[in-house]
Parts: sequence; C-alpha cells; structure tokens
Amino acid sequence: MILPGATIGMIGGGQLGRMFVIAAKYLGYNVLVLEPGENSPAGQVADEQIVAAYDAPEALATFAQRCDVITTEFENIPASVLETLSESTPVRPSAAALSKTQDRIVEKDFIRSCGLLPVPYGAIRTRSEVALAIDAIKFPAILKTARFGYDGKGQITVNTPDEVVEAYESHRSVDCVLEQRVDLDCEISVVLSRNENGDTQCFPVSENVHVDGILFQSIVPARVDPDIARAAQVAAKRIATKLDYVGVLAVEFFVTKKAELLVNEIAPRTHNSGHFTIDACVTSQFEQQVRTVCNLPFGDTRLLTPVVMTNLLGDIWGDTQPDWSKVFNSAASKLHLYGKAEARDGRKMGHFCTLADNVDDAITEATKIFEQLS
Ligand code: ADP
Ligand code: MG
Repeated sequence: MILPGATIGMIGGGQLGRMFVIAAKYLGYNVLVLEPGENSPAGQVADEQIVAAYDAPEALATFAQRCDVITTEFENIPASVLETLSESTPVRPSAAALSKTQDRIVEKDFIRSCGLLPVPYGAIRTRSEVALAIDAIKFPAILKTARFGYDGKGQITVNTPDEVVEAYESHRSVDCVLEQRVDLDCEISVVLSRNENGDTQCFPVSENVHVDGILFQSIVPARVDPDIARAAQVAAKRIATKLDYVGVLAVEFFVTKKAELLVNEIAPRTHNSGHFTIDACVTSQFEQQVRTVCNLPFGDTRLLTPVVMTNLLGDIWGDTQPDWSKVFNSAASKLHLYGKAEARDGRKMGHFCTLADNVDDAITEATKIFEQLS
C-alpha cells in the first residue's frame, strides 16, 4: 500500500486532475501534476505543477523520480511516455491499457474481442477502404476521426457515399471510422475501478443526456430496465478485466430503441458522467482512483440520494460569469467550478449536482437552475 504522505503523480492538468488532487489532499497525499499549460485547473490545487510537455525527457525523469505512483486524467498520452515512466515508478493504468482506447478502430476491434457489440461501423484507413466501410453501415452515419476526438469534435454527419468521401477529405484523410447513426432510446455509462488483484467495483449506472455531442446532464439512478443496467456493469467489468486494467475506467453505452446494449467508447480514466459520485455516493470516483492506484481497499460506491449532474459550458458565460446565486439559492445543489481563466463555447467550466428525493424532482430543479443561469 502507498500510504498518505506519499507523492502521487498526475499526468494532465484538467478538471479531472483537479478533482483527483482535491480527493488525494483530503486523504493526506502529496500530488505533483505534469502539464504543459501554466496554472492549470489541477496545478492550482496540487502541491506543485511541473510545467512541461508530456514527452519532455528531463521533466519526465524528474517527475518519475519524485513520485511514488503515477496516474492520469487524459487518454492521449503517448504509450512510450508511460512505458518510460514505468521503468522506475508504477504507472496505473498501464501504457498497454491506454493504447487500446486511443484509436477508435483499435478500440472497436477490442470491444468485439470482448464479445460485446460496438455500433455498426467500418474502418477507413485509406481512400480504398471507403467503399467497404459504406457497405458495413446504413445511412445516416457519422464519420469520426479515429484519434483525438472528444466532446463531439472531429465528427461529421454524412447521408450519402459522396458525403463520406467529402468528409474524409475534409478530415485530411486521417484514419476514421464510419459509424451508423443509431436510434437511441438513451445513453448510459458505467464508471468502475479495478485493482492489482483483479477485483472490480462499479459505481451506480448513470443515464446521460447529450446536447450537440457534449454531455449535458447525468441522471442517477438511470431510468433504464434493471437488466440493461446490470448488463452494462457486467460488460464494463469484462472490458476492465480484458485490459488487465488498474485504476478507474468508464464505459459509455448506447441503449437502442430495440433495447440492444451497444458499447460506444471506453475512457481509461475518471469520467464526466461520474461527477455525481462526489456529492451523492459514499465514495467519489476520484477518491476511488486514489485508493485504487495506491493499492488501498475500495471505498463503498453506494448511492446515497437521487441526483442530477448538470454541466456548465463556457457558452453561458457573458462578459461576467453567470449569476451563481441561482445555484446557491437551491440548498440541495452543489456548485463545482474548475478554475479555468477563459470561457469558450463548448468548454467545460464547471458543473453542479442537484440532490432530491427522486430523479424527477432533481431534474425539474436542476433544469430550472440551468435555465436561470443561461
Ligand atoms: P466523444 O469522444 O466526442 O465523446 P462520442 O462517440 O461519444 O464521441 O460521441 C458523442 C455523442 O454523440 C454521443 O454521446 C452521442 O450522443 C452522439 N453519437 C455519437 N455517435 C453516435 C451514433 N453512432 N449514433 C447516435 N448518436 C451518436
Ligand atoms: Mg463520448
């Protein structure tokens, strides 16, 4: 066990890193953040931030030498970086696990190898694969870049073969997946942790509402058939086990109108749809990440109250910040801001959780507050 007083390294300085640091500080750990952007959300609350590129050799050496264990909040770290670090310091999750989730083509092959269903898709690595990909799906479809997409970025809706070619060229012919647009009943996700012994523990399933490809609200308990919720947890455990994963992992699912469960994507980290755990569960996803990477026993993941998490994007910022009294006046709502200096449209600036006796009341209250803020 890596005990309080030790130093945990966090690669990445965003909001997931920030909430991890806060959880680690509660437990008495030191946290060193590695992140190129100065005064990052995580760096502001950490013991120290090393301001350097993720692959700067000297910074990496110092970072590895000063940390007792290293974890991450960000999936696009080159596998070679994690491998180098792991020569001297434990890195959880591993480079091998991360590399299965960095490329949508690799990820979807992996999902199938777990005996699970991805969305119908075709891989496009060269112009000559376009026709094959089109044969694999039905229109309408979405052409997604295989790498570096997030919050709906790098996605183009396509309705005809010509539009696929056009979209592929506008993506500058980088590797892509052509995904059938599925008729969704709802979206759900599972955040879970897996330790070195191979034990897993899931958080309650979250129901996720997206607007323009970005998460808007997470509703817990999810309003889905309990059999589907259980199947999602089983699937997420299978994925974590197949990856020999150590740490916190999230799996996003689509539930189709025909009640099929499809795996959308895997995030090798804590997840936006797990933020509700801070205010509504015995243990938060971030404390669980601390516990798991430090080899402590899992914390209880029980849900204490129905909850709705609502994201606050830069869109609702004007010349000044939104009127937070709207959140503060709701006694069972909890505001979380990430300390980002500049608000931009679509940028995640914070979130709030609204607790209530049932999800309907939580949704009504949260939505009222959100409308007042906008
Ligand atoms: P990101 O990496 O940006 O989160 P996703 O693939 O999860 O990318 O897409 C973001 C959102 O867009 C999804 O949560 C969903 O709401 C919608 N979406 C993406 N792909 C599909 C699809 N094939 N069918 C229906 N909706 C989709
Ligand atoms: Mg997603």
